Amino acid sequence: MDSPIVLVDDKHVPLYRVVWVADLPHFCGEPDCMREGQYEIRLDVEDSVWTSLRGRDSVLAALTAWCGDGESDNSEEDRDW
Ligand SMILES: [Zn+2]
Repeated sequence: MDSPIVLVDDKHVPLYRVVWVADLPHFCGEPDCMREGQYEIRLDVEDSVWTSLRGRDSVLAALTAWCGDGESDNSEEDRDW
């Protein structure tokens, strides 16, 4: 299993910090919005990182692999660490 850290743009984010991942690109109607069209990755520290659709998808894939790992593998003894 890979390390539970995912790269979001230029930031390495631990997956356990992720609260949710936006399904749709941001739109708030503000004319000077800097985040329009970007996908928000909400973190548990009252902060967010923002990324493209491709970045969002890689975060989701990493989260799915990370979260799903515990469910599909309940034989901790088999791990040689
Ligand atoms: Zn906005």
